[in-house]
Amino acid sequence: MNNTPVLKVAVNVPLSREFDYKPATDGPPAEPGCRVLVPFGRRRQTGLVMNTAAASELPGEKVRRCIATLDHKPVLAEEDLWLIRFTSNYYHHPIGEVTAAALPALLRQGKPLHPTLAHVVITDNGEKTDVEALARRAPRQAELVELLIDAGGNGLDVDALTEQLPNWRRAAKPLLEKGLIVRHEARQDDADTPDAGPGEPGPTLNPSQQLAVDAIRGHDGFGTFVLDGVTGSGKTEVYLRLIRDVLDSGKQALVLVPEIGLTPQLVSRLQRRLGIHPHVLHSGLTDQERLRAWRQARSGRAGLVVGTRSAVFTPMPNVGLIVVDEEHDHSLKQQEGLRYSARDLAIARASHKGIPVVLGSATPTLELLHRCRTGHYRHLELPERAGGASQPTLRLIDLNRSPATNGISDPLATAISEHLGSGGQVLMFLNRRGFAPTLICASCGHIAECRRCDSRMTVHAHDRSLRCHHCGSSRSLDDNCSECGAEVRPLGEGTQRLEEALREQFPGYRIQRIDSDTTQRRGAISAALTIAKEGDADILVGTQMLSKGHHFPKLTLVGIINADQGLFGADFRSGERLAQSITQVAGRAGRENRQGEVLIQTAFPDNPFWRCLIEGGYRQVAADALEEREATRWPPYTRLALLRSAAHKRHDAHDFLDIARQRIEAKAVRHLRVLGPVDAPMARRAGRYRAQLLLQSSDRRALHEILTELRPGLENDPAARKVRWSIDVDPIELF
Ligand code: ADP
Ligand code: ZN
Repeated sequence: MNNTPVLKVAVNVPLSREFDYKPATDGPPAEPGCRVLVPFGRRRQTGLVMNTAAASELPGEKVRRCIATLDHKPVLAEEDLWLIRFTSNYYHHPIGEVTAAALPALLRQGKPLHPTLAHVVITDNGEKTDVEALARRAPRQAELVELLIDAGGNGLDVDALTEQLPNWRRAAKPLLEKGLIVRHEARQDDADTPDAGPGEPGPTLNPSQQLAVDAIRGHDGFGTFVLDGVTGSGKTEVYLRLIRDVLDSGKQALVLVPEIGLTPQLVSRLQRRLGIHPHVLHSGLTDQERLRAWRQARSGRAGLVVGTRSAVFTPMPNVGLIVVDEEHDHSLKQQEGLRYSARDLAIARASHKGIPVVLGSATPTLELLHRCRTGHYRHLELPERAGGASQPTLRLIDLNRSPATNGISDPLATAISEHLGSGGQVLMFLNRRGFAPTLICASCGHIAECRRCDSRMTVHAHDRSLRCHHCGSSRSLDDNCSECGAEVRPLGEGTQRLEEALREQFPGYRIQRIDSDTTQRRGAISAALTIAKEGDADILVGTQMLSKGHHFPKLTLVGIINADQGLFGADFRSGERLAQSITQVAGRAGRENRQGEVLIQTAFPDNPFWRCLIEGGYRQVAADALEEREATRWPPYTRLALLRSAAHKRHDAHDFLDIARQRIEAKAVRHLRVLGPVDAPMARRAGRYRAQLLLQSSDRRALHEILTELRPGLENDPAARKVRWSIDVDPIELF
C-alpha cells in the first residue's frame, strides 16, 4: 500500500483491468472522463481515467506517473463511463478496448477534443518596428510585420497567412526570436448547424399508429417498446412523432440503423420532416467529420443523431429517446473484437438514463417477442400497411416440376414477362454474389477450393477469377481441371450469372444488379438505389442489400431464386432468419397501389416451413419457433456464450479450449451446460484452425459469474499466447 492518490486508467490493451498511475505533475489532477498520456511498457499510450483512488494496492515505486493530462475537463461524463463499464462487464471484454471502441479515432490517438489553429500576432514591440528600414534588409519579414500590424490584436491564423504570404514561416523565425511577433493556439469553436427550414407536416396517423405513439408518450421514465409493424405500416411515422416531441422539449434523440449507406432515404426523410439536419455517424466519414459530429452530440447542440452500431456510445447529455430501426438486422451486432449488440446496449443505456427506447421491425427477433410475452417489453403492433397498400401474396414454385435454367424456372419467367408488360418493376433476390458458387470438373468431379479456408471458390466471370468470399484470396480461372486436365464448368448461380440470363431472356429491359461487387466505389450504392427507386431500371437483381428498408414505388414482383439453403441450416436460428429475409424482401413489393406478388422457388415445397410462412406469415413462424426453442432449451429460453479460438495448429486451438473447459468444470456451476470444444463449422479460415466451446445456461447470472472468473485466468494462461481467442456473449452466429 502507498498513500498517494492514484488514477485508475483504462489503457487500450487486451487485459481485463484498469491500471494505476500517479497524476501528471503539471496542472490539476485529471478527473474521471479525462484522457491522460501514460507510459505503458516501453511505449506511450493514451488512456482514459475511469476513477480515482486514495491509494494504490501496489507499492509506491511500482506506480508510474502520467506523462501528461490531455483534457482539463472530462471528455466523457459519468453516464458515458457507466456505459463503457457496463459493456466491458457484460461482454467480458477488456475495458481499455471498450474505451477505444467508444471514442472517435482522433481522441483515441490523443488529439485534442476541439481543433485548434495556430495564430500569429504582432507584439507591442513589433508594432514599433521601422518597417521601411526592415524592408531594405529583409523584405519578406517587413511584409509579414505589415500584414500582422494590419490584422490587429487577433492576428492571423496560419491558413490565412499561408494564403497571403506563402513563405511566411521562414520570415517568421527571426521575428519570433526577437519577440516582435508571437504564436499561440486558439480553439476553434463549432458553428451551430443551421435549421433545414420548417418541417413538413406528416399524414394523420391511423389508429394503430396513434395507439403506439400514445403508449410511448404516456409512459414516464425507462420503458422498452417493440414496434412490430409489417413493412410499410408506418413505423417511421411513429418515430418521427416521438422525435418531434423530444426535440420540442429541448432534448436529444438517438436513432440507430443497421447501415446508413443502405438507408439514405431515412436520413433525408428525417431532415425534410423535422426541419433539422441530423448529425450522421457512420463508417464513411473522415476522422475529422466524425469527431465534429461526436462533439456536437456531446455538447448537446445536435438535436438528432443518426448512426450505425458504434453510435450507441455517443455521449448525449440530454438524450430523451433512443430508436433502434430494423432491430433484427445482424449488422447491429459487431462480429469481431468487442462483440456487442448495439440494440442491447441501447436498452441498457435507456434504462440507466430513465428514458424510453423504441425497437422497430417488421420481423422482430424471438428474443424481443419473448420479452414482450413475459411483460418486460411493451408490444406495439401495426398490423396493416399505412396509406391503403395491401400485403403482397406469397406463392411457391416447385423446382422439381418446373426446373430452373440459369436460376429461372418457366413460371417465374412468365410472371416476370407479365409484370414487365404491365409496366411493373421486378426484383430477383439471390443471396449469392459472383457468377457461380462452385467450379466443378465435368470429368473427375474435382471442386476448386480455397487453399486457406475449408470453402469453395466462387467463380467471377468479369475478370475470370476464382475468389474466396471468406478470406478474400483469389486466383485466375483456369478452363482445365487442376487434377485431371479435363474441362471444368461453373455450377449453380450467383447474381452475375442470373443477371446474364435475364439479359438474354428479357432483351430491351433495363437491368440493375446491386450487390457488394457492383457497389464498391464510394457513392455507388446510393446511385444504384436511386436508379432502382426512380424506376430507371425494370429488373433489379441483388443480394440482401436489396432487402433493407427501401421503397421502390413501381416494384410489383419479387422472385426468390434460391431459398432452400436456409431450410436446412445448421444453426437453430436458420428458420427465423429465412423467414426474416423473405418477409423483408417481400415487403419491397407493392408498396403503393398495385398488388405485390412474391414467387419463391424451392425444391422442397412440402416442407412445413412454407405452409407456416404462407398461411401465417412471420408471426406464425415466430410463434412456432418459440415453442420449439422452449422445448429444446435454446435461446431465448436459455442464454449462450461462445468461446472461440483460432491458431495455425489445430491442436493449439483445441488445447486452449480444453483448458477453459477444465477451469469451468472446476467451479462446478449448477445449471450450466458446456458443449465442446469442437471444430468450428468452417474449421479452417484464412489459414487458421478454428475451434469453439459453447456455454449454455438458463440462469444468466450464473453464466456471467463464471465468465467473470474465467477471463483473467485465461488471459494469463500460457496457452493463450498461441491462439487468438474471444468470448462472444449472446452470439448470433453459432456455427
Ligand atoms: P415503415 O417504416 O413501417 O416501413 P413508413 O413510415 O415508411 O413505414 O410508411 C410507409 C408509407 O406509408 C410511407 O410512404 C408513408 O409516408 C406512408 N404513411 C405512413 N403513415 C401514414 C398514414 N398514417 N397515412 C398515410 N400514409 C402514411
Ligand atoms: Zn479463403
